[in-house]
Amino acid sequence: MTQEQWGQLRKNLLGTVGKNNYANWIEPIEFSDIKDGVAVFTVPTSFLGNYVSQNFGELILHQLTSAGENVRRLSFQVAANETARPRAAAVADTPRNTSRPAMQDDLLPGAPLDARFTFDTFVVGKPNELAHAAARRVAEGGPVTFNPLFLYGGVGLGKTHLMHAIAHELQARRPDLNVVYLSAEQFMYRFVQALRDRRMMDFKQLFRAVDVLMVDDVQFIAGKDSTQEEFFHTFNALVDGNKQIIISGDRAPGEIKDLEDRIKSRLQCGLVVDLHPTDYELRLGILQSKVEQFRDQYPGLVLTDGVLEFLAHRISTNVRVLEGALTRLFAFASLVGCEITLDMTQDCLADILRASERKITIEEIQRQVAEHYNIRLSDLVGPKRVRSFARPRQVAMYLCKQLTSRSLPEIGRRFGGRDHTTVMHGVRRIEELRVQDGQIAEDIEMLRRTLEA
Ligand code: ADP
Ligand code: MG
Repeated sequence: MTQEQWGQLRKNLLGTVGKNNYANWIEPIEFSDIKDGVAVFTVPTSFLGNYVSQNFGELILHQLTSAGENVRRLSFQVAANETARPRAAAVADTPRNTSRPAMQDDLLPGAPLDARFTFDTFVVGKPNELAHAAARRVAEGGPVTFNPLFLYGGVGLGKTHLMHAIAHELQARRPDLNVVYLSAEQFMYRFVQALRDRRMMDFKQLFRAVDVLMVDDVQFIAGKDSTQEEFFHTFNALVDGNKQIIISGDRAPGEIKDLEDRIKSRLQCGLVVDLHPTDYELRLGILQSKVEQFRDQYPGLVLTDGVLEFLAHRISTNVRVLEGALTRLFAFASLVGCEITLDMTQDCLADILRASERKITIEEIQRQVAEHYNIRLSDLVGPKRVRSFARPRQVAMYLCKQLTSRSLPEIGRRFGGRDHTTVMHGVRRIEELRVQDGQIAEDIEMLRRTLEA
């Protein structure tokens, strides 16, 4: 195929992928040649190659074969002046016919990095400052001090973001290092593929040749015995070679079920840091920084005071949900051509706001109340009727009625199988006492605030 023919073909792609995609992803790739059924393209970065391969690979392949070319797969190669860079993102391949003898390339261990996940875009607050500091330290690429670095925390708290940030930073500072990022799932996938293709030697060699290995969401390999085994060997080989390892998980190593003990203890050997659920200040900070990023995209959009504070208060700790909410707000406002006000926010995000309403449970209420009155939980729900247990019990029932959507019979059941009329009586009693007894009113106010925090 000539460059001219490729030029024509590329124009066809413009129609299919749209102007933005075309400019971002298709234009930067250069056709080089077709050899032995492989169409080779040159790309400025391996990230771009990977992205194009994953998102437009099939499409390009289809265009090529429709144009009469005998092409089975695509290969994206990083331009010569870029090849010295580490392969944090591997050279991408779009295999068409996997039964053919595969080339060395498609075992390359890395997965693509998200260009937006850098330290610059990571907002630091109390809940994540330790994890951030540790990530920064590792990203300096100095001598290995703690190995592995284990980052853990709930969904959407920034684990993947931090790992990508480390990879980006290392690429910039230490282009000599072979940095590999991938998820535990991808690790397993590559391992299984290597087994199937009888290429375990290649697999081992590739992973042993890594300088910095990052494995995201390690909990995924729990219960998957042979993958764990291989992971363990890879891990040990790299640690022995004094190579940095960074692992993330959704909980502390010791708490991951069905993970082999020897792996747990290995993971605990280095530095274990957790990302805490976001607090109000951090959420507000993240929202403000996001708004700055949106400014270019949506110039002239008006955001009323108080909207960000409202969102930071009302939306859960998951940053992904927070970002999604803001994205929707901006998109909606620019489509409709309105300002982002509090009213508009409440309408536009009604579903998200409802979903992230914190659900208070009966157990939580019982626990808090028992603690507040300094009595045992078993006494709170037990049969004893002495005043010192009965009053807190009524307070707890009252709070259950107020703060949960549970019915009276359900609440009764959870208080040692009491009748719903007992619950009703207790709730009424507290309603009366709230007015007459300042202490009770104060207790309830305090409990409510703790529970709703
Ligand atoms: P996890 O891997 O812990 O589930 P991610 O790293 O994928 O979470 O983060 C979810 C989303 O929230 C990403 O878009 C990420 O950029 C964003 N995010 C999380 N924490 C922060 C932070 N501290 N500052 C800016 N963005 C963040
Ligand atoms: Mg993640």
